[in-house]
Amino acid sequence: MADDQFADPQAFGFETRAIRAGQHHDPTSGAVVTPISLATTFVQESPGRHRGYEYARTNNPTRQALQECLASLEGATHGLAFASGLAAEDTLLRTLSSGDHLVLGNDAYGGTFRLISAVVAAAGIEWTAVDLTQPEQLRAAMRPETKIVWAETPTNPLLTVVDLAAIAEVTHQGGAQLVVDNTFATPYLQQPLAEGADVVVHSTTKYCGGHSDVVGGFLATNDDELAARLAYLQNAVGAVGGPFDNYLTLRGLKTLAVRMDRHCDNAEAVVELLLAHPKVTKVLYPGLSDHPGHEAARRQMRRFGGMVSFRVAGGADAAMRLTTATQVFSLAESLGAVESLIEHPGVMTHASAAGSELEVPDDLVRLSVGIESSQDQLDDLQRALDGL
Ligand code: PLP
Repeated sequence: MADDQFADPQAFGFETRAIRAGQHHDPTSGAVVTPISLATTFVQESPGRHRGYEYARTNNPTRQALQECLASLEGATHGLAFASGLAAEDTLLRTLSSGDHLVLGNDAYGGTFRLISAVVAAAGIEWTAVDLTQPEQLRAAMRPETKIVWAETPTNPLLTVVDLAAIAEVTHQGGAQLVVDNTFATPYLQQPLAEGADVVVHSTTKYCGGHSDVVGGFLATNDDELAARLAYLQNAVGAVGGPFDNYLTLRGLKTLAVRMDRHCDNAEAVVELLLAHPKVTKVLYPGLSDHPGHEAARRQMRRFGGMVSFRVAGGADAAMRLTTATQVFSLAESLGAVESLIEHPGVMTHASAAGSELEVPDDLVRLSVGIESSQDQLDDLQRALDGL
């Protein structure tokens, strides 16, 4: 990456790096867009002597461009792209061995919880879920065998905010590494490595890709030794996306900053509407001054994001009816793309956490506020809520 002047955060701003870092003009044609490099194998001058590419699982030029670009946006020296967010998580968790221990926030994406509690645990890795908004709970959960503390902030779906600097300190005092899932905030709004995290995880399926048309995952770190191990596992396990996937994610990154600002503008307007509506009993948004994590969010985030969760009067039944009453907000899983989505986490994205300490309230509705006309979004929600 050293030879890419555009990757340098000191020399270029976020928006410039999003468009230029890792993305070299094609030397033969001058094409300004990174090519989708479909080759599975690359010619060698003599056995073992090549131009940095051997076989496309190990790496390919389109993936390399994405890896350099998103690493730069996270302020990381190393970035690795995967076939999905969970593929990235799984590869990272393979650095653990039987007998190791992991601490997980008690409010996390259901798929992460399922991977840790049902798959990784079967390989002999122990885990504890704690409330990471209380650093003392983390301190109490740390064991000599604790290798990883796994945090999300803001969390999916309760939008809890964890003070990253505070938990980084406790994690490091305990000799472990802090992993932060930055999917909800994106590097435009929050840069966990600068707050003391050791690894950043992304589901690039969400805001980074931004158009609901590509599944992907990412790991970013400044730890050379860990990066070498992760690159080994990336190749050895092979959970990598294809060049077209990599291309779409790279294309999404180019507009990340402008999209995030619009997501934030529109989410703030939605929050105002929800706060004023009698059928809404609680609005969860880190930008609200009475949100318990508001001060931490102000310190570590540029703005508060495009995700809004809320609870409705009338329990699970009302929440479910609301999710089928909107038109601009489509009833669907996932988040972070240009179109607005509405969902019921208890039945949909977080069903795998039912009955566990990560279970979510059944009157909870989650919105991914897109970048359509704000007025259309507001009219849609107003009509659906009035009809409850
Ligand atoms: N992390 C968070 C916060 C998520 O919301 C998701 C998916 O919804 C994931 C990780 C998993 O990513 P993927 O669906 O790309 O495997």
